[in-house]
Amino acid sequence: MTKEEFYSSFKVLTKAELHLHLEAVISKKTIRYFYERKHSGLSDVQADSEIAKIFTYSDLNGFIQAYLAVQDLYESPADFDYVFADLKDYLVRNGISYAEVFAAPSAFIKKGWNFSDMVETYSRNIRKINSDTGIKIRLLIDVSRTFGYENAEKNLQLLLLNMIPEIIGIGLGGSEQKGPAKLFEKVFDKARSQNLFTVAHAGEDVGPESIWDAIKICKAARIGHGISAIQDEKLMQTLVERKIPLEVCPTSNVFTKKYVKNLAEHPIRTFFNKGILVTLNSDDPLFFGVELLDEYWNAYTEIGFSVEELKQIAKNSFVASFLTNDEKSEFLRRFDD
Ligand SMILES: [Zn+2]
Repeated sequence: MTKEEFYSSFKVLTKAELHLHLEAVISKKTIRYFYERKHSGLSDVQADSEIAKIFTYSDLNGFIQAYLAVQDLYESPADFDYVFADLKDYLVRNGISYAEVFAAPSAFIKKGWNFSDMVETYSRNIRKINSDTGIKIRLLIDVSRTFGYENAEKNLQLLLLNMIPEIIGIGLGGSEQKGPAKLFEKVFDKARSQNLFTVAHAGEDVGPESIWDAIKICKAARIGHGISAIQDEKLMQTLVERKIPLEVCPTSNVFTKKYVKNLAEHPIRTFFNKGILVTLNSDDPLFFGVELLDEYWNAYTEIGFSVEELKQIAKNSFVASFLTNDEKSEFLRRFDD
C-alpha cells in the first residue's frame, strides 16, 4: 500500500486515541501567539530561535521541563479555548471519533489559577466539539509524579469538588524516576472509591518494577507506555491474563531514548504477538512531531505490522477504553462499517 493510500484509508477508519496530552496538542501557531504575547518586541527570527530552544531535550526529564515551559506561556484559563481548537483540528485530521485525553493542571494551579475556571473551559470546549463534529472527548486529570504526594492529593481534592461528566478519571504522568508509584497509592484508592478510573504512565523511564507497582499498588486499569515489560516474562504474562491494556506511543519512546533505540526494535511487536492488549497512540504530537496516523504508518513501515493487524490494534483502542459496553459496541459497529 502506498503512503497516500494508507493515510486515506486509515483516516476514514473510525479510531480512538487513549494516550494524548491536551497541552501537547497545541499547534505551532498557538505557541507562537502565546510566546509573542509574553515576550513582546521580538523579531520573527528571535522568536523562532527562542521557541526552538524550548524544544531541545534528550530524555524524559528534559522533555518534562520543555512541557512546563510551554505551560508557562499560558496567561489564563481562556487560553484553553485555543488549545481545544487545536485538539479539534488534530482529531478531525486523524479520523479520531473518541479520545481519552490527559489534562495536567498542576503547573496552572501553582500559578494561582482557579481549578473550577479550568474545568469550566474544559467542559464548554468538549461539549462544543461534540456538537460541531460528533467527536467524543473524555478527560483524565494528571495528578503527576513530578510534584510529590501532596500536590497529587490536592489535584484529586480539587477534582472531586469540581466533577463534571466529561472528566472520568485520573492519570499518573510526569517524572517516573522522581515519583515512584507507591507514593500515590492513597490518591489512587480514593479516586476509585469516588468511581473515577485510574491509569498510570509506567515502564517508560524505569524498569518493570515500576509497572508492577502501578498495577499492584496503584491498581491502574491501564498502563501508559509499559515498554520495560519486555524485560520481564512474568509481567507480560500477567498483562495478558489480567487483560491490562498498554497505551503504546512508539515515537515518544524513541525520543526519550530510554528503552527503545529505533522504531524497528520497538517491543510493541512482541507485546502484540504475546496477546497483550496493545493500543497505538501519539502521546505529545507537538513535541515529538508525530500524529496518530503517522504512528499507524510507522507501525506498518518500520515495525512490520500488516494492515489487518493494525485494524485489530485500532479496534483494541475501543476495547481498552473506558466507554460503557454499549458505547464500545456502537463504536466497533461503526468501525466494521
Ligand atoms: Zn504520556
